[in-house]
Amino acid sequence: MLRITGLHKSFGATPVLRDVDLAVRQGEVTCVIGPSGSGKSTLLRCINHLEKVDAGSIEVDGVLIGYRESAGKLHELGDRAIARQRAGIGMVFQGFNLFGHLTVLENLIEAPVGVLGLSKKDALVRAREKLRRVGLADREDAYPRQLSGGQQQRIAIARALAMEPKLLLFDEPTSALDPELVGEVLAVMRDLAAAGQTMVVVTHEIGFAREVADTVVFLDGGEVLETGPPGKVLDDPGQPRTRDFLQRVL
Ligand code: ATP
Ligand code: MG
Repeated sequence: MLRITGLHKSFGATPVLRDVDLAVRQGEVTCVIGPSGSGKSTLLRCINHLEKVDAGSIEVDGVLIGYRESAGKLHELGDRAIARQRAGIGMVFQGFNLFGHLTVLENLIEAPVGVLGLSKKDALVRAREKLRRVGLADREDAYPRQLSGGQQQRIAIARALAMEPKLLLFDEPTSALDPELVGEVLAVMRDLAAAGQTMVVVTHEIGFAREVADTVVFLDGGEVLETGPPGKVLDDPGQPRTRDFLQRVL
C-alpha cells in the first residue's frame, strides 16, 4: 500500500532523513516514534509531497508520489497531478487546522466539493456519515470555536475521512490536547484502525502504539533504528537508543 525506499531528505546541508525504508500494508497501522527533531514530521510531509525528497521513492498503491517515470528518468508532476495524489492521502495535524469561519458541516464538504467535484448533496450525505463515525453528528452547525479541543480534532479527522483517503497520516494528533481530551481522539483512531483504515501515526502515546499498531518504527537522527511489531520494539528493543527513548517517554 505504502512503500518507501531509500528516502533521503536534507534541509540545506543538514540531513534530516537518511536512507529510510518503510512498508505499510493495506489495512495496517504503523506508529512512528522518536525524539524531537528525529524527522517524523518531515517523513509524513514527504509522503504527501509537501516536501520534495532528495533521493529514494515513495509509492502509494503502486503509484509513485510526486513524479512520473518515462524513459528511465523521473519528471516532477505538475500541481494538478500532485493535488490529485494528495486527495487520496489524508493528513491530521497536531493543531486542528479547521476553517474558523465555516461550520463543522461546511468544513467537511469543502474539499469533497472543491477537489473531488462531488455534488453538494452527495458531499452532505458523506459528511454526515463521517460525523457519525467520530460521534459528533449533533454538532454539524457548530463553529470550531464552540467545540472543545478534542471535539475539534475529531472534526479534523472526519474532514480527512470525507475525502475517503487510501492512506491517513497523523502527526501527533493528541499532543496539543488537554490530558482529559486525549482519550476521545484515540478512541476514534482505534475505531478507524479496527475498520481497516490504513494509517501512519506519529505519536508519543506509547499505550496506543502498543495496542493498535501492527508495526512500530523508531526514528532517531533521521534513521530508522528499529522496526517491528509493538511487542518487540516497545517491550524488547534491540537498540540502546530505543530503550533510552522509551524510558524517557513512559
Ligand atoms: P518533533 O517531535 O519536535 O515534532 P520531528 O521528529 O517531527 O520533531 P521534524 O520536524 O521532521 O522532526 O524535523 C527534523 C529536523 O529537520 C529538525 O532538525 C528540524 O529543525 C529540521 N527542519 C524541519 N523542517 C525544516 C525546514 N523547513 N527547514 C529547515 N529545517 C527544517
Ligand atoms: Mg514533528
